[in-house]
Amino acid sequence: MLYVVPTPIGNLEDITLRALRILREAPLVLAEDTRTTRRLLDHYGISTPLRAFHAHNEHAVVEKIVAELAAGATMALVSDAGTPGISDPGFLLVRACVRAGIRVECLPGPTAFVPALVASGLPSDTFLFDGFLPHKKGRQTRLKYLAEQPHTFVLYESPFRLVKCLEELIAVCGPERPACVARELSKMYEEVKTAPLETLLAHFSAKEVKGEIVVVVSGKISQRPGED
Ligand code: SAM
Repeated sequence: MLYVVPTPIGNLEDITLRALRILREAPLVLAEDTRTTRRLLDHYGISTPLRAFHAHNEHAVVEKIVAELAAGATMALVSDAGTPGISDPGFLLVRACVRAGIRVECLPGPTAFVPALVASGLPSDTFLFDGFLPHKKGRQTRLKYLAEQPHTFVLYESPFRLVKCLEELIAVCGPERPACVARELSKMYEEVKTAPLETLLAHFSAKEVKGEIVVVVSGKISQRPGED
């Protein structure tokens, strides 16, 4: 059995009682960065053994892990922060487990895009999560596609590229499209600012942008097909 266990995105209080129990009881935790996860587990007084499972080895080790699980092993999978498989390693292993008939349980828990979307005040009844945009090839095509969608869309972005990203969004969505930048969610300097894209650009161009960032952008039209 494979447990997929979300871990805090900043605030160490944001972990469920079940996540702590699974991490304590599992014989092995697969971790994106074993040093990061060891520090996290130390904080909760958990000493479960760790094994590295990350973007650079997942293709090489997935078969062996599936064979161990098929033979009866139980493991928990974590990433550095948030939910594994959401802009983090996890999909490949979960897909292989599902195909092999191995039970997978993903615990509900922290992930950055949900609090960003909900706190933005932008329509959250239907939305498109697109994670990190490609840096170069395909970026413009993706931005143009997103700009035409009627649904709110959500992106992950680095603080160093935020201003460029807002400029690019203005080019395809127009300066007045409502949007939100959610920065450092659940941490001491959390900032959630919802405003037209041009206002966000002015705000974030005026200072050095630091921390982790989610960008939420309103859909192209306020009325979707089928709505009165
Ligand atoms: N697995 C994670 C999840 O479930 O959200 C995402 C991991 S991805 C490698 C890291 C990105 O998530 C960051 O660059 C940022 O865009 C977003 N992120 C993570 N923590 C955040 C936070 N506390 N505040 C805002 N964005 C955050």
